[in-house]
Order: sequence, then structure tokens, then C-alpha cells
Amino acid sequence: MSDRLAIVVPCYNEEEVLPISIPELLKVLEDLAGKQKIDRDSYLLFVNDGSRDRTWELLEEAHRKDARVCAVKLAKNCGHQSALIAGLMTVRENADMTVSIDADLQDDVSVIEDMVDAYHNGCEIVYGIRGSRKSDSFFKRTTAQGFYKFLAALGVKTVYNHADFRLMSSKALAELAQYHETNLYLRGLIPLLGLKTGEVFYERKERLAGESKYPFKKMLALAMNGITSFSVQPIRLVFQVGLFVLLICLCAAVYAFVSYLSGSVEHGWTSIILSIWFLGGVQLLAIGVIGEYIGKIYNEVKHRPLYHIETVLQSDTE
Ligand code: UDP
Ligand code: MG
Repeated sequence: MSDRLAIVVPCYNEEEVLPISIPELLKVLEDLAGKQKIDRDSYLLFVNDGSRDRTWELLEEAHRKDARVCAVKLAKNCGHQSALIAGLMTVRENADMTVSIDADLQDDVSVIEDMVDAYHNGCEIVYGIRGSRKSDSFFKRTTAQGFYKFLAALGVKTVYNHADFRLMSSKALAELAQYHETNLYLRGLIPLLGLKTGEVFYERKERLAGESKYPFKKMLALAMNGITSFSVQPIRLVFQVGLFVLLICLCAAVYAFVSYLSGSVEHGWTSIILSIWFLGGVQLLAIGVIGEYIGKIYNEVKHRPLYHIETVLQSDTE
């Protein structure tokens, strides 16, 4: 008997894409079960992240037609990362392995088979890695790749060109469950688990239907989380900038003193105003950076739950 797979899919206003992606994912289960790579009672788990459209109705309907379509309804929109962890934690004890994938199936479902093979060869985590990003817009491609490089420069260990398309064994999920972070950035956490990992490569496709649910603001918030949850380099940078400004100030003092001795004191409204504003700006920036971290600590110590589950549609609840 082979192992049970659960495919976890976060969904936010995905009514346009679900009628295409549900059958495609069921077909993946069918194929893999046919090849005896996964158990026949493998299933899909959709996490409805507070959608305002017909996503939940579609999921209920799909569940009625096919018990392998399971779903969790979050009480409100909690964001992609929280929806994903909600799904993973829901299936944790009901699956031997999980694959997380976006509802729009931009990630290639055909490599799920390679992921499962890697799992059978002993990998606890298998990363889906984008060979290229031709289908992404120029803006998304350059900002995303620049961001990964920036994270690496800050010393954060992430997998280049990997998003949240990955396989995790139940053991890996049990380890992940020990992290109780409010500021969740899963891509940064998974490499910390240190378990045996594998990689599969694929070409990222266009969204099957509908529009991106990751507007620039959400992308920026995720990127900020990626930096501040894993690196204190920005605070160190503030310290370094402070030192640098102090050094410039010393040079200016020496220059002023020499000018005074030689009898040619510089008068100047512009230089005074500019330096006041410059230093004021640097200070505000520094406070901002430190404030960002304090805000993070504030949220972490409150330790509020990341999501609330309203309803669960599971095959064994019927
Ligand atoms: N998503 C979510 N909650 C949100 C935003 C997005 O669950 O608040 C889901 C969305 O339904 C999709 C996945 O996260 O399954 C990735 O979103 P999308 O494909 O729009 O992002 P992009 O590929 O454009 O980065
Ligand atoms: Mg997408």
C-alpha cells in the first residue's frame, strides 16, 4: 500500500479558475493512484481564504460530487501564507505527504509525480523550482528576482526561484508545527527544518483564469516579512549609517575649524538647512526601521491565532 497524498490549495476569489483546476488536480490524483505511487484515498484540500465571490459554493458543489474534494472555510481573509498554513495543519495528521500549490495552477502539476518519486526516495521536502519566469510580467520577474538576491545578501537562506509549490512529508509538517510565528514567511522557515530535501524544475505558466490576487501592496508586505522575520541586518545598517554620518560630521568640524583659523569662516543658510534636514531624515528613517522590528515583536508577543476555521468539508465527516 502506498502513501496518502493531500494537495493543499489556498483560494481567494478563485471562482473563475476552480472549475478548471479542480478536475485537473483530481486527474493528478487519479494518475498517481493508477501508477500506485499514492494511496487511492488521497485527496485535495482547498482553503477558502474569506473569498467574497462564489468560491465556497463551488467547493461545496465539488465536494458533493466527489468526496476527494475537501475544503476548509476560514472565517475571514487572512492572506496567502496564513491560508496555506491553515491547510497544512488541517491535513497534517491525515496524510503522509502534502503538496501545496496555488489555485491558478501556474505551477506545473505534471511535476507532482517527480515530487512523489523524490518522496519515495527518502526526501522529506521537495521544492518546485521555476526554470524561468517567462510567463511573469517584466515587473514581477525583476522585482521578485531582485528580492531573492537581496535576501541572500542579507544572509537569509532561501531557495532561489522557489515559491510555495512544494511537497512536505508528515514528518516535515510535524517539525514545521513547532514554529509559532505570527509574521509568517514559509519560504524562509522550511530551509530551517534541515531535513533531507529534493528539487524538481518546471516552467511557470500563465494564470489559467482570473486575475492575480497578489497586488503590489501584498507583495511588498510579504517581502518586508521575509526580510524582518529572518534578518536583523537592517538595524545593523542603521548603526553603520549613523557611524558614517558621524564621520562626515567630524570632517566638517575639522574643515570649519581650519577655515576659522585661516580667517575665512563660511556662512551659509543652505548648508545649515540641508544638513539639518539630512540628519533629520536619517534619524526618522532609523526610527522607522527600528519601529518596524518593534511592531513585529508586538505582534509576536500577542501570539494571536493566524486564522479561524468556520467550516470543514471532509470525506469522513459525512
Ligand atoms: N491567495 C489567498 N489569499 C490571499 C491572496 C491570495 O489564499 O489573500 C491565494 C490565491 O487564491 C492563489 C495563491 O494565493 O491560490 C497565489 O495567488 P496569485 O496566484 O494571485 O498570486 P501570483 O501568482 O500572482 O503571485
Ligand atoms: Mg498565481
